[in-house]
Amino acid sequence: MNTVRVRFAPSPTGYLHIGGARTALFNWLFARQNQGKLVLRIEDTDTERLKEDSISQILSSMRWLGIEWDEGPETGGPCGPYYQSKRLDLYREEAERLIQEGKAYYCFCTPTELEEVRVSQHQAGEAFRYNGKCRDLLLSIAQKRIAEGEKAVIRLRIPASGQVKVKDLVHGEVKFSLDQFDDLVIMKSNGMPTYNFACVVDDHAMAISHVIRAEEHLSNTPKQVLLYEALGYEPIQFAHVAMILAPDRSKLSKRHGATSVEEFRDQGFLAPAIVNYLTLLGWSPGSDQEIFTPAESMDKFQLDKVSKKAAIYDTKKLTWINGQYLNSMNLDDVTRETIPFFLRKGLVTEEQAAEQYDTIRAVVSVVRDRVKTLVELTEAAEYYFKDVTEYEEKGQRKYFSSPGVAELLRKAHERLEQLEVFDVKHTEETYQILIEELGIKAGELIHPTRLALTGRTVSPGLFDVMALLGKDRCLARLKQAISFILQISI
Ligand code: GLU
Repeated sequence: MNTVRVRFAPSPTGYLHIGGARTALFNWLFARQNQGKLVLRIEDTDTERLKEDSISQILSSMRWLGIEWDEGPETGGPCGPYYQSKRLDLYREEAERLIQEGKAYYCFCTPTELEEVRVSQHQAGEAFRYNGKCRDLLLSIAQKRIAEGEKAVIRLRIPASGQVKVKDLVHGEVKFSLDQFDDLVIMKSNGMPTYNFACVVDDHAMAISHVIRAEEHLSNTPKQVLLYEALGYEPIQFAHVAMILAPDRSKLSKRHGATSVEEFRDQGFLAPAIVNYLTLLGWSPGSDQEIFTPAESMDKFQLDKVSKKAAIYDTKKLTWINGQYLNSMNLDDVTRETIPFFLRKGLVTEEQAAEQYDTIRAVVSVVRDRVKTLVELTEAAEYYFKDVTEYEEKGQRKYFSSPGVAELLRKAHERLEQLEVFDVKHTEETYQILIEELGIKAGELIHPTRLALTGRTVSPGLFDVMALLGKDRCLARLKQAISFILQISI
């Protein structure tokens, strides 16, 4: 069996987009399930599109998601360097070899000349195609012009007609007619390789066995197949994964909300939940199972079962999956993930987070089953860290305005004050007895108490809240609410 070697090859032009993350993930799953290697290669030769910090953001987002590369930046490996900008000699050597073999040639046409050709072809009702002006220049003449300082690109000779067949593991055989292609520019006049050329040279040099990438590159693939042939490289397997579209089937963009891994992290999504969600974007296990650990995904994922149809991005499903993870993940892991959110919201200081870890863990444990993101968890936990300074409007109308509510809370205060053990069991019993004695419905006392203790109409179980807050804070908050009710009812 040939060794599986796949690669993720981002261009550092911004954050790691979820589409990119999904490509990285599918490569990683495929590598792991075949005991292969994942190579990370940074495609940074298009200097105009580079964004500062992008590389470190991409690396940190991948690490955060748990997508580990075996070779690449920071890890190194036998096929490095893993930055295309550091491999320019290799591209120049290969381009030179193609020229010597007569498969590529120097082209001196300037952008102005090419534009003139374009205009005249347009006027004649033809599609633009390079007119082949420099195709048959003698190499010795071309070399002389270069030596004299003239600028040239290098073009690959492409047959004028015929077909290129691309065998794709997702799409099957896709045929492209050659008459739609120009003689391909492989090196620009500034000495930099074009994307298609650098990609093919590197995939070969890095002994890549499968190229798994976004479908938007399917149209580049016939050009790459021609390059494989010209360079005399062994063909490679391709798998083009369908695009991720917004719910309205348009291209996913900022206006649809978060699109980068960092934004999702800031919105309180957990890495394994995102990984789980992305695994299901474009691939289905063929059953109803929706929650997968990475190990299960590695086991079940099948590249040839990846869908040809665009995957529709659905925040609701991601949020649901996140809620599932929030609930079932190890409590310490969730607590560790939550602390930065508490810090950011100013609910605790770094020192408190370290000293009061157990209390924070207890708060997280009580609130986590009602929320779906870490941001929601932080909001739901606020009552514990901050005094109640206001009561939800809707709650005031519903629960603080009924006659006798202040008196009810006063009675509850009186009973709770007598408790020696202030835990879930005892506070609950106290309330049950009181409710029975007064012959009221449970909600008549529970809802106003919740509003008094948390300022909100929705909270974790009331007695969990009481136990967590402790006796003194509960009593003080009940008192404060009673005064507030008396004041508004005047
Ligand atoms: N640098 C290309 C991109 O970010 C990678 C294409 C490929 O995987 O071949 O889209």
